[in-house]
Amino acid sequence: MAILVFVESAEGKIKKTSIEAVAYAHALGGPVTAIALGAVDKAELEALGKYGAQKVLHAADEKLNQGVIQAYASVLEKALQDEGADILVLANSSLGTPVAARVATKIGASLASNVVDLPQTSGGFVVKRSIYTGKAFAWVELKNQKKVIGLRKNAAEIKEVGSAAQVTPYAVTLSDADFATHITSSEKATGEVLLPEANIVVSGGRGMKGPEHWGILEELAKTLHAATGCSKPVSDMGWRPHHEHVGQTGVKVAPQLYIAIGISGAIQHLAGVNSSKYIVVINKDPEAPFFKAADYGIVGDAFEIIPKLTEAIKAAK
Ligand code: FAD
Repeated sequence: MAILVFVESAEGKIKKTSIEAVAYAHALGGPVTAIALGAVDKAELEALGKYGAQKVLHAADEKLNQGVIQAYASVLEKALQDEGADILVLANSSLGTPVAARVATKIGASLASNVVDLPQTSGGFVVKRSIYTGKAFAWVELKNQKKVIGLRKNAAEIKEVGSAAQVTPYAVTLSDADFATHITSSEKATGEVLLPEANIVVSGGRGMKGPEHWGILEELAKTLHAATGCSKPVSDMGWRPHHEHVGQTGVKVAPQLYIAIGISGAIQHLAGVNSSKYIVVINKDPEAPFFKAADYGIVGDAFEIIPKLTEAIKAAK
């Protein structure tokens, strides 16, 4: 049961969710080959061996530097064939999800997205999927021999199980059809810590009253080395950039700690944060729905609490 893992990178660094995908594939038990596309640091690729990849392929063609879905799907289809792999594992990211669907169609595979756990394999290959934006789970049998498994964040525990892997260049032949859709421009998200990858997120809602008050929230985020996020109305009103919008229609985050300040906790917002390990809610309304989803809650005025919290964290460092 050979397994291919598609690993994503940003600015040369492998994404944590892709390291989770390698760890998941290792736990599945087959020989694991990881493949990275576009520019990636060599040391990052070698390190994938520590998490369970026996072999690492690198398709470094610069045309693959941007995540063009058709091109990525073509390369993965070929790599699955070359490696004799029946299973493709990848992260359910904005790139991974459409790539998974294309590859599954190309190779006639059973596809499961948002998988949260290892499969049950007695009497079939049954995976547990998160559905209805994290509100429920479904167990789905993947009947085809070929399988594509998309992982939700935090689906696998990252452990060191081996040593650095050797990286093999992987030559690709790309056609114009692979770039029928291509990226014309892109904008780098601002902020020191990228929101989708962040371990800690400090997020603000309409309770912050206006963009001029975000300084205290940013100071708290800086102290915690956290990314900043916001609710949808906040980005709709232009108080914060759209890439900070968290929720069903925005970024889905899965940090160790999500601090929600002045956010009511509407279901559409919760849909983007319910994979967080711990949630802390600061809200002046004790009846705010977010408290039901919180591990810890502080009832009070954000403008009094945030500076005190920041000072206390600085003092404790
Ligand atoms: P509000 O609901 O106005 O809540 C503000 C909160 O701040 C209140 O709980 C209040 O008690 C508290 N507060 C006020 N002053 C203070 C203070 N001084 N100190 C502390 N607390 C204070 N929303 C998202 O966020 N993400 C999405 O992806 C998303 N997608 C949507 C998709 C659809 C199809 C629809 C219909 C809606 C979507 N929404 C989404 C909107 C969502 O329903 C809510 O309207 C929105 O999340 C509310 O934002 P908020 O909590 O910032 O504002």
